[in-house]
Amino acid sequence: MRNLSVLLLDENVLDAKLNQDELQLHLQDYRCTFHLVTSKTEYHKILDTLAPDVVLSDYNLPSYTGLEALRDLKAKFPYTPFIFVTGTQQEEVAAQAIKEGAWDYVVKDRISRLAMAVQNALKLREEQLKNIEIQDAVAKSELRFRTLFNSASDAIFMMQGPTFIDCNTATEKIFGCTKDQIVGQNPILFSPPFQPSGLPSETAAHEKIQSALAGQPQFFEWQHIQYDGTPFDAEVSLNRLEIGNEIFIQAIVRDITQRKKSEIENKRLAMVANTTNNIVVIADSEGRIEWVNRAFTVITEYPFEEVIGKRPGTFLQGPETDLVQTQFMSQKLAQGQGFKDLEIINYTKRGKPYWVQIEVQPIHDASGRLIQFIAIESDVTERKKTQLALADREKRFRNLVQQSPVAVIEWDTNLNVLEWNEAAENIFGYARTEAVGRSVFGLILPAAPDPEIQRVADLLIEQKGGNRNTNKNTTKNGTTILCEWYNRPLTDEAGKTIGIVSMVEDITERVKAEIELKESELKFRQIIHSSPMGIYVYEVNEKNQLILVDTNPAADTLTGIRNVELIGKTIEEAFPGLRETDIPKYYLDAALHGTPWYTEDMYYDEGKITGAFQVYAFQAGHSRVAVMFLNITGRKQIEAAIKQKNEELLKINAELDSFVYSASHDLRAPIASLLGLVEVARLEKDNASLERLLDMQKRSLMKLDNFIHDIVSYSRNNRLDIQVEPIDFITLIEGIFEQLYFMDHLGYLDCRIVVAPTLNFHSDSKRITVVLNNLISNAIKYADISKPDPYVEVRVDKSPDGVTICVADNGDGIDEEHLPKIFDMFYRATQKSSGSGIGLYIVNEITQKMKGTLKVESIKRVGSKFFVNLPNLN
Ligand code: ADP
Repeated sequence: MRNLSVLLLDENVLDAKLNQDELQLHLQDYRCTFHLVTSKTEYHKILDTLAPDVVLSDYNLPSYTGLEALRDLKAKFPYTPFIFVTGTQQEEVAAQAIKEGAWDYVVKDRISRLAMAVQNALKLREEQLKNIEIQDAVAKSELRFRTLFNSASDAIFMMQGPTFIDCNTATEKIFGCTKDQIVGQNPILFSPPFQPSGLPSETAAHEKIQSALAGQPQFFEWQHIQYDGTPFDAEVSLNRLEIGNEIFIQAIVRDITQRKKSEIENKRLAMVANTTNNIVVIADSEGRIEWVNRAFTVITEYPFEEVIGKRPGTFLQGPETDLVQTQFMSQKLAQGQGFKDLEIINYTKRGKPYWVQIEVQPIHDASGRLIQFIAIESDVTERKKTQLALADREKRFRNLVQQSPVAVIEWDTNLNVLEWNEAAENIFGYARTEAVGRSVFGLILPAAPDPEIQRVADLLIEQKGGNRNTNKNTTKNGTTILCEWYNRPLTDEAGKTIGIVSMVEDITERVKAEIELKESELKFRQIIHSSPMGIYVYEVNEKNQLILVDTNPAADTLTGIRNVELIGKTIEEAFPGLRETDIPKYYLDAALHGTPWYTEDMYYDEGKITGAFQVYAFQAGHSRVAVMFLNITGRKQIEAAIKQKNEELLKINAELDSFVYSASHDLRAPIASLLGLVEVARLEKDNASLERLLDMQKRSLMKLDNFIHDIVSYSRNNRLDIQVEPIDFITLIEGIFEQLYFMDHLGYLDCRIVVAPTLNFHSDSKRITVVLNNLISNAIKYADISKPDPYVEVRVDKSPDGVTICVADNGDGIDEEHLPKIFDMFYRATQKSSGSGIGLYIVNEITQKMKGTLKVESIKRVGSKFFVNLPNLN
């Protein structure tokens, strides 16, 4: 239900009530409120506070006319329906009233029409109001469009066919002329003859306009010229408009000169941004990515499409990112502020952390509104790494200094303690807290400044030295210690000394040990020096060579050279004779592995010892070998002589043994047989038998004589010196054969003597006689007379150094097995022998004495040949 506010103007309240009832009755669609006024004053008053929907007024009022009331209402509410309700039925009055603007005229007699009149009036009013609204809206919209039209920054104009018919204010500005200069003109007036594409403007424009007219909206870039001919780049859109029955073209021209410029500028900037190694991010005012450069993708591994519209912090940060820093950034961005030099850990798409230094600039438009942020980020991972490594190194270095076994003390230039490490605490007994801040004087040096220490400090401060000094210091408990100081000036960047750092070592014990060592070394040296043994000391160098490092005077005496001159040389250089031997190997073994080596080294000449050394090599410290040696030539010579004598004695002893054996047999047998024969002869009376017995006795005695003769020869050979004389072999051999006349079967033998002429041979004739006597008597003794032509031959031939005597026979010969032994003393090779077995032994001895040689060739049952080669002793 709609509200309806009804104003009743009537001086007759009763009439008014009637009207009210009438309306109440018939206007049931409305919730009516009635306001009754009876005078002009009341009427005016209520209109000040109330806007009635309808006014019902009497036509004739006492001090106020209904027409006046109508006019007053119209002045205030021109569209509120005003209906006259009157008692008089007058056509003119009604006409007058309608003319004046009343909406209806109802006669009280026909009051039933009142409700209808009010309803009609309200309907009419509604339509009226609607029309007014529409008109208002049209007017407003027209105004708005005009304003829009004129306030647009783009040129907007209308064309009918090829002629401008209207344009906005921007058109004047863009084309540089007034509306009058445009309207009525052909657009070709504002284009150059040709477009940058090369096409004639007229043709191109015509084409575009025709297309637009055909209903295809056109949008293209165009080069225009201003009224004065200045060209400018524009973006043009053409649209066909149908207004009523007419067809227009609406053109919008935007001057894009500036945009073109900034496009180029932007391209250039983007190029720069893309070629830089720094990350460039452009974000909107909310911090959402609008653009990133190539370096961004290279470093973060995110392609542009993946990050556009995102806030960098949401995907770049990771576990090690510093939250304080990120909060700072968010806060700054939220406040629309930039920041600089912020360093933070970000993560690549694959999760690899990297350090960036970020600078963010807010970008504002002309009106000061925040539109973008530009972030430039440089990858500082390497620098950060170095920085962190440096910091880490510094920390480690600090620790090292603190834990260094060497005392480290830092001083200011006045020698006050700045730093004091643990080792300093240990050496000097002062805790760090006790030492820091105190002067060196009175702390570890006497309180009175020492000029020498001051001098060292001055040298250090002036950077001229003082880097090392040794002095006595006092510890907290008063002990004096000897310290070695290594000092360095600490400088600032300008090179000015700002302090001193010292490293201190307590060398008290070391110095003491050194002195002791020196003393013991001295003693040791003295021992070496006075040792009767020769000493060489070798050290193994890095090339595994033995270098002679020490020797002693005894070595000089023993070797006969000045060994000191060989010091520093390799063993092979010093003693080339050792090159081909294994000795350097043994020394190395001793030096490196501690394997001792011992030898006796001897040198011979013609079987005689000319030199002998006893050598001991043993490890003497790390990679060192000491070689001690003694000359033992004398001892060795004596030893050799004794050995020889011993061997001779042994031989003599053996000979003596043989002799005793032979003597018992060879001497006693003939004597026993002789004694027996003598007893038999004593009983024999027959002369012939006695004669036979005497013969037998004679043979026994001869045997005995032979033996004694042999022994005497042997003894003589040993005792007597060689007597050299010319030898006449023929006389000598013939003499021997003559002496052997008594031998049994000499008479059956062909005895031949062949002696080479002009021998001119000198030797010992007695010895040669003994030799030949033995050989010839054997040849006769062992002859085989059963052979057809038994013989004995003695030949003497010239040899290179003298003569060769050959005694040959074709007798029994000697068994091969006996041959090697026939020259032994008392050796008999056959049972047939009646001799003592000493003959060939004497032959051999004599031959050797005369520096000759003896040889035998014999075949059993064929014969024997004995060769004696004797040098000419002249
Ligand atoms: P013996 O007194 O036994 O002859 P020898 O020393 O003279 O002693 O000779 C040693 C041995 O050599 C003899 O016992 C004999 O067997 C053998 N012998 C030496 N000369 C000859 C020779 N001309 N023919 C054969 N045998 C010989």
